[in-house]
Formats: sequence, structure tokens, C-alpha cells
Amino acid sequence: MEFIPLGSSTDIGASCHYIGCNGHGVVVDAGADPNHEGPDSLPKLAALKGRHVEHAIITHAHHDHIGGIPEVYERFPQVAFHMTEATRTLTEMMLYASARLQRRRYTEGSSQHRPLFDEEDVDAAIQSFVSHPYERPHALGSTDMEVNLHYSGHLLGSAGVCLTDVSGRRVFYTSDTNLNAQTIIPGGRYPKQVDVLISECTLGADPVAETVTRKSEERRFLKRLQAVLDRDGTVLVPVFMLGRAQEILAMLGQFRRSGRLDPEVPIYTAGGLRNVSRIYDATRYDTPRLDPDFEVSCVEQRFFPRSYKAKRRALREPSIHVLSSGMMIENTLSNWAANQIVENEKHAVFLVGFAKEDLPAGQLLQAAAERAESVVLDRRIGPKVLACEVERFRFSGHSSRQDLLGLIDAMNPGKVVLVHGETAARDWMIAQLADRQPGLEVASPELGERIEI
Ligand SMILES: [Zn+2]
Ligand SMILES: [Zn+2]
Repeated sequence: MEFIPLGSSTDIGASCHYIGCNGHGVVVDAGADPNHEGPDSLPKLAALKGRHVEHAIITHAHHDHIGGIPEVYERFPQVAFHMTEATRTLTEMMLYASARLQRRRYTEGSSQHRPLFDEEDVDAAIQSFVSHPYERPHALGSTDMEVNLHYSGHLLGSAGVCLTDVSGRRVFYTSDTNLNAQTIIPGGRYPKQVDVLISECTLGADPVAETVTRKSEERRFLKRLQAVLDRDGTVLVPVFMLGRAQEILAMLGQFRRSGRLDPEVPIYTAGGLRNVSRIYDATRYDTPRLDPDFEVSCVEQRFFPRSYKAKRRALREPSIHVLSSGMMIENTLSNWAANQIVENEKHAVFLVGFAKEDLPAGQLLQAAAERAESVVLDRRIGPKVLACEVERFRFSGHSSRQDLLGLIDAMNPGKVVLVHGETAARDWMIAQLADRQPGLEVASPELGERIEI
């Protein structure tokens, strides 16, 4: 079998990999790189040079795993996209939302790039979506391969992919993993023995992530939250609308039910995040859950108001605002709300996800760490006095690097291929694996580089 990474190889980038077997080709994931816009964000399909793709396996509905689907479809119109049913529902929603967002940004001038696809392109591509239950092997027609999706604990519908060839050789792609339970979904379940393991290493350069547990972060979050509310402050929690938002709402719901959070304190949410919550609720009996009876929509939420005046009023009362985007990019509700509260020491911004350094959430974190006097969250508004509390909590949807090493031990592959991580993250994993399992073959191919697996 051959393996070619088609997304970025030195960054988290776009997740998209080619696996070829006896002249037949499959791509696992078809993501777009969130660090780039326009054609630069797409998987580098040109590296396939004459190879054909007959099937695509989509592991979950995050943009860095699905944003290139219309491109793959345009290039290989015969392709069938395989995924779980929940991923199919979420992916359709996210692709349409992305088409609308790209058009809006282009028309209002906040992006120079023409949209990569529109709703009609999405209409066409989703005709080729096929869904499969977890752990039900399915032959990939016209190839010699069989696919089996394993629940991966990262997000509703998320899966690791096992590809088996005619000789019974098993190649497993972890995609994004989480071995530990979150608030709504349980930790991933993986097969025991594989021949080749293609592993993510998102947190490979993050030593702190392995020292905290979800429970300890929950306690710290609640304590800080109480302190802000006690001083009549408002807490903004910028969230990614798919996954993190629902997990945070579920946690706040638990705090309320157990009497640790005053149910009178309003929680505000808005927009697409609520639509995703509805999908979480609709699939609660058909997908892995810690408590199938729990519904995100039963955590009482108020609509974050539309009018400027009402928004300002909502932010003035002691309250919690769970708003997207998670990285507080300009022209989003979380960015707007942060600009409103940042100058008041009563209030707080609690960051609960990955914060890229060059985006507003990352810049806010850095400014707070350096005790800077001001911060720019929106270039049109300019510097704002930084007075509010800024705190980061680790509620990651990814496995810590120690968990990844444990997973590699448990799956006992003869070869490991490291993908989906920054250079420092891969280097750490390579060094650790060399120590733990000196005989193990470890590869970390560059973008477009073909390796034999
Ligand atoms: Zn993901
Ligand atoms: Zn990812």
C-alpha cells in the first residue's frame, strides 16, 4: 500500500491523505486548512499525479476534515464519500454554512478570495454521501479494500478508520482522537491489533495537557465562574460551535442541576450553535453517550439578542455568554462581546479551546500573560484597555500525548505514520517512540511525499 499526505505536514493544516492499494485509491478526510483562505487552503490533489480516487472516508465534521469535499468531488466525480450518519448530518450543515460564509466574506470585502464552492456544489457533492454504522465492515466497491469505522471519542459522529486489504493487512487512521470521556460523549474505542497506525499528534508538544484532567479543569472553571458572578461580572466563553459549545453547555447544565450554579444566572447562546445542539439531541439514542437521556436544549438558554442595545444590556447583568467563534475571529459574536467587556475588571473571558497565536483569542491570552495594558481584538476598533480577567481552561477534544503513546502501545502496530501535528509535536512523538519501542518503524512524511506502508 502507498500513503501520501495531501494536507499540510508541518502544521495542523488540512487533513487529507491518500491510500493506494493495487492501483486503486482512497482518500481519508478531505479537509481545508483553517490557517489559509482560497485555493491555498485546499488539499494538494495535484500531488496524486495520475492516480485515481474512488472512495473518500470522512472521519468527522470539523472544517479541517471536510472543507475540501467539494474540491475532491469536482476532481473525482465518481467518488463515494463514506462516513457515519451523524457525521453526514453535521457535514451537510457545515458545508452549506461554509458556502454562505465564504460568499458573505467575499461580498463584504473581508476576504479577497472568491468562494471555493457555493450551495450548488454542496448539493451535488452530498448526493455521493453514504453512511455506515460503527464497527460494521463495508467493502469499498471496485477496490480490494474494506472499511470499518470505529468510534473515536472526539466529536459527535467521529470515527477512526480501519482499512483492510485482501491479504488481511490492517491500516488504521486515528483521525482526531479522545480516549477520555467529555461531558456528553464517552471516550473512543479502538481495535486491538493493527499492522500500520496513522496517528494524529495534535497535543504532541503540549506538556500541560497531560497534567490536567477534565474533572480538575471543571472544578477550576466553576470556581473562577463563581468568583466573577459574585462580583456581578459577566463571563464570555468563546466556543467553536460544533462540539465544544455543546460540551460546555452540558457542563453548565450539570453545575446547575447539582446546585453548584445558581439557575437564575442566565446563559446566552445564539445562531448555528443551537442548530448543532439540535443534532446532538436528535441522535442521542443512536450514538455513543454517557447519558442518552440528556438533551442540550434542556439546559435553559436565552437567545443572545440581535439589537445593539439589548446585547449591551444582556452583557451588563451577571450572566454567562457561550458564543462562537472559538478563536474570536473578527466579525463574530464572541469578538464583538469581548470588545464590549474587555475594559471592565469585573468581567471575564474564559477560553476553552485551542487559541492560535495570530488570532484574537490567542492575542488576548498572550496580552493577559504579559500583563499588557491593551489589546487589539478587532483591527477596525483598534486597541482596548485590557482590564477583564482572562483565563484558559483545557477541555480539549484531543488525546494528550501520553494517551497517544498508550494507544500506540495498545494497538501494537509494526509501523507508525505521524500526521496532523506541528513539527515540534511530531518530533516529541518520534523521540518517545524511539525510546519505548526501538524496533518500531516510524514515518513522518512531508506534504505530497509518497511512502510505502
Ligand atoms: Zn476535529
Ligand atoms: Zn482535526
